[in-house]
Amino acid sequence: MTPDELKTYAQNLGFDEVRIAGPSPKTWGRFSEWLKNGFHGEMRYLADRAEERRSASRLLESARSVIVAAKRYTAVDPPSPPSLNEALTPAVSRYAWGDDYHDVVAGGLKKIAAYIEDQSGGRSQARWCVDTAPILEKDFAAQSGVGWVGKHTNILNRRLGNWFFLGVVITTLDLKPDAPASNHCGSCTRCLDACPTRAFPAPYVLDARRCISYLTIELKGPIPREFRKAIGRRIFGCDDCLQACPWNRFAIPAQEAGFFPRPWLQTDDLIQLMRITEEQFRIQFKGSPIKRAKRRGLLRNAAVALGNSRDPRAVPVLVEKLDDAEPLIRGHAAWALGEIGGDQARKALTLGLEKEKDGWVQDEIQEALLP
Ligand code: SF4
Ligand code: SF4
Repeated sequence: MTPDELKTYAQNLGFDEVRIAGPSPKTWGRFSEWLKNGFHGEMRYLADRAEERRSASRLLESARSVIVAAKRYTAVDPPSPPSLNEALTPAVSRYAWGDDYHDVVAGGLKKIAAYIEDQSGGRSQARWCVDTAPILEKDFAAQSGVGWVGKHTNILNRRLGNWFFLGVVITTLDLKPDAPASNHCGSCTRCLDACPTRAFPAPYVLDARRCISYLTIELKGPIPREFRKAIGRRIFGCDDCLQACPWNRFAIPAQEAGFFPRPWLQTDDLIQLMRITEEQFRIQFKGSPIKRAKRRGLLRNAAVALGNSRDPRAVPVLVEKLDDAEPLIRGHAAWALGEIGGDQARKALTLGLEKEKDGWVQDEIQEALLP
């Protein structure tokens, strides 16, 4: 099997770019430095399995090549819900509009791995992963020429912009590596300037602890107060740095139906979302990346967004949520009521404080009651 035969096979499965790298990443030292700085925040799985990222052969013995496959995901924008106003419309990162990319991309990667094993008569092994094993995907994507690492730390491709997922197939098959892509960021700083929380301490360095994607998806506990206002109406992820990149002007919308926006994005405003029960959450977000946040995380984020809306029509649902079983939701609902203010909000907060048993929620209520 030649590299071209393999690439043609993978492209026929719907991948937009398929290229080949050797088995050793070039930026492990940089990654290790990033961890030492604590920029990964609470994503301990990154530090715990850092050593395994030193080489693809840690994941597959005798690995010789890493095949990197990119699949574009940006879809045409859905119409907004018939919300009371724009501030009550939830903002969701584009990658989470449709089905979970792990499921969609895995289907193609499994076929590539099976193709390699079949074509070699079982002499070559292959292992696929899409964020499912410790490997420096972006490093291999850059080495193979799928794209270059932009100042926003994501991979950019001149044809696809930055709206694509990466998957890799590690194999014992010795394939000739492709040439890396050159960097075309030049003197541009648009992504860095666009970040609402100043999450880039330097170009090409992300402090995840300040990033809204981390704060709304990966962080499991309370969102630090200093970032809540900057979150705006984002309830799952943030696209500002990606959206700002001028290379996206060439990006073509995805044709993969699984990435098209789900219907709820066109119907549900923040107030409706805030009323979702555990069972409704399970049904509505089955097979969606949003299930990662769980109901408690999503409603935490929605409460922050409602606080930022400053819309008094959000007060009744936030008052209801002062009685939610989850302290995380009660505490953020209290913050939101404090932001919106008014007699009804203050009365509910005062009553809430009398019956609240959780110390952290009590603190949130007391803060919210401060003039
Ligand atoms: S995703 Fe948003 S918050 Fe995170 S670095 Fe990009 S612009 Fe900043
Ligand atoms: S916005 Fe500019 S600096 Fe940032 S990744 Fe795109 S081209 Fe590079």
